[in-house]
Amino acid sequence: MAIKFCPRCKSIMVLTKKDGKAVWRCPKCGYEEEANVNGAKLVERTAPARR
Ligand SMILES: [Zn+2]
Repeated sequence: MAIKFCPRCKSIMVLTKKDGKAVWRCPKCGYEEEANVNGAKLVERTAPARR
């Protein structure tokens, strides 16, 4: 699991979920940044609904 530091206050951000997306959130100042998950979870949009 990756670790990211807040650009504002330099404290450790936590990876959380918001609206089904992964976002980095700083517990200190409340800064949020969208985490770009490349490759891992990009399967959903073209999933065929047929059987
Ligand atoms: Zn911060």
